Amino acid sequence: MDFKSFIRDVPNFPKEGVIFKDITLLLQNPEMLKQTAEALAQLLNDQKIDKVVGMESRGFIFGPILASKLNAGFVPIRKPGKLPYTTLSETYDLEYGTDTLEIHIDSITKGDRVLIHDDVLATGGTASAACKLVEKLGGTIVQCNFLIELSFLEGVSKIADYQVKSLLTY
Ligand code: 5GP
Repeated sequence: MDFKSFIRDVPNFPKEGVIFKDITLLLQNPEMLKQTAEALAQLLNDQKIDKVVGMESRGFIFGPILASKLNAGFVPIRKPGKLPYTTLSETYDLEYGTDTLEIHIDSITKGDRVLIHDDVLATGGTASAACKLVEKLGGTIVQCNFLIELSFLEGVSKIADYQVKSLLTY
C-alpha cells in the first residue's frame, strides 16, 4: 500500500519555512484509514498492551482505533487546562520557549504496559514528555509508534531509551 502518496506537503504551515505533513487525504479515504490502523497495530508484533496513550490532537485519531484493535484502553495527553480531573504535568523545551502537557493522575495503573502513539515524530519533545508522564505514573513503555517520522529532525534521540517504530520515514 502506497501510504506516502496520501501524505500531502503543505509549505509554510503553520508558519513560514515549515513544510507540514498533512495526513487528511489518508484519513478521508476509507481503505487507507483501515490499512493505516492495521499497519500501526502490526508494528507491535503481538506485544501485549494495556493502554494506548495519544497526544493532543492528532494522536487522538489513530490512538483510540489502535486501542480498540489491541484490546487496550485509550488515555489522552492534553495541553494545559483541558483535562477536567486532577492532572500531572510535564514541561519541555521548544526552539523558542516551553510547552506543557498533562495527563489524568488515575489514567495509568502501576505496571500498565503502554503504547505511546502520535501522528508525527518531529523534534521528539512531545513524545519525550509523554513518556515521562507515563513513567511517573508507574507505566512501562512498550513502544512509541508514529505514522510519520521526520528523521532529519532526529527526534528519536530524545526517546532513545524506548522501542521507536514509524510507518513512514522522511
Ligand atoms: P515534536 O514535539 O516531535 O517536535 O512535534 C510533534 C508534534 O507536532 C506532534 O504532536 C505532531 O502532531 C505535530 N507535528 C509536527 N510537525 C508536524 C507535521 O509536519 N505534520 C503533522 N500532521 N503534525 C506535525
